[in-house]
Amino acid sequence: MCGIFAIYDQENNKNVAKLTYFALYSLQHRGQESAGITVSNGKEMKTHKNMGLVSQIFDEKKLSKLTGNLALGHVRYSTTGSSNIENAQPFETIWNDKEKIQIAHNGNLVNFDRICSHLGITIPTNNSDTELIALLLKKLKDPSLETTIQKIIQKITGAYSIVIMSKEKIIAFRDPYGIRPLCLGRLGSSYVLASESCAFDIIGAQYIREVEPGEIITISKTGLSSTMLPSTTNRAMCVFEYIYFARPDSNIYGKNLYCTRVNMGRNLAREQPVKADMVISVPDSGTPAAIGYSKESGIPLDEGLIKNRYVGRTFISPTQEMRELGVRIKLNPISKIFEGKRIVIVDDSIVRGTTSRKIVNLVRKAGAREVHVRVSSPPILFPCFYGIDTATKSELIAANMSLEKIRQHLNADSLGYLSIRGLTQAINLPSKDLDLACLNGEYPIKIPEEIQKLKLIFK
Ligand code: 5GP
Ligand code: MG
Repeated sequence: MCGIFAIYDQENNKNVAKLTYFALYSLQHRGQESAGITVSNGKEMKTHKNMGLVSQIFDEKKLSKLTGNLALGHVRYSTTGSSNIENAQPFETIWNDKEKIQIAHNGNLVNFDRICSHLGITIPTNNSDTELIALLLKKLKDPSLETTIQKIIQKITGAYSIVIMSKEKIIAFRDPYGIRPLCLGRLGSSYVLASESCAFDIIGAQYIREVEPGEIITISKTGLSSTMLPSTTNRAMCVFEYIYFARPDSNIYGKNLYCTRVNMGRNLAREQPVKADMVISVPDSGTPAAIGYSKESGIPLDEGLIKNRYVGRTFISPTQEMRELGVRIKLNPISKIFEGKRIVIVDDSIVRGTTSRKIVNLVRKAGAREVHVRVSSPPILFPCFYGIDTATKSELIAANMSLEKIRQHLNADSLGYLSIRGLTQAINLPSKDLDLACLNGEYPIKIPEEIQKLKLIFK
């Protein structure tokens, strides 16, 4: 998972580094390992990137050195390649033997081996697929950057939303399935691009539309131009973006994710009703669905689990003694409201089942009489190869246990998941326009065997 932002300031009167900084701040949920910003003034490009959170990497002084009218930013969560500074993005490469190019990539390529053999290498230095795109840019010579990109698209397969920046232009392109998001907006007369529309809100930009699957958009001095590759496929937007990943205040294809998730919760209440006294959510990701469950069922919603919002990835590893307390570091129950009650806990997804099990036990210890777990997505049965760090098949609880076994494992009185139909109905898209692979194993892009071996470890 990763987040991307880019801006081309036509009037040259904006602080593009600062705008990029704030946009990346709002995309922080998409990656917390490293972040970077490149700015160009048309003549030269300057980059600052490092490991850590956006707020730790940049300050006024560092941003003030990044002056220009084009900017590209990235936050990274590694799904291929190691988590080190060499893999932090924007990733620099040379095109046509002379011109510096910066790349920001969200997604995973699945024909890694094929590209490597085309390039005559066994494996790229840092084992990252963004590096492969950089190597292709280096190798595929063409007088125009756009046609070089068209050649690259012929060679790569997988999920990619990519923004490339040269000294004087920004080029964005999305794979023909549109698995990972990318949208286009406007700030005054300037164009902006972002993984999610929440990045536009924070800088006062307006959402225009999605970058279409298979579209190549160029933004330069002369404005915006677009080329569509001839399409031979349905689009297949990643369903996990709707379930968990994207922020609820973002819109995808004009549809707000908060409302979509409330509808998932409503459908869940219809499909998996239960007699109970109170609905509580697992904050924050379960909250919109818990609201929907409560509205539809008429069971009152209460805030029973208080989240410490300062627990992040920079958190110092707890001692063994503290680890026993487990999830309590992040979530603390309010015993008073649980005593003697029948509780419905609503969460957005169960991946490995470890967190859910701890939460059920916390709520029991806090005095709940009955604990019913309701999940606003269907069971996650298959691993993701397109850029979400879900587990291998052997770690996915639903791939290895029956519903009843999972219920016992969680120590819940009952367990109910949303159906695929209930999910797609809430998203309001036909299932053919979604990538549902993690739920039904129907991968829109064929996964080569060597990659399957890495993740499809059957029991
Ligand atoms: P589990 O019970 O499977 O251990 O954890 C379920 C919780 O993990 C849910 O609350 C869900 O929101 C969260 N979750 C789902 N996918 C991801 C992910 O990719 N990263 C992180 N950090 N949490 C996730
Ligand atoms: Mg969660």
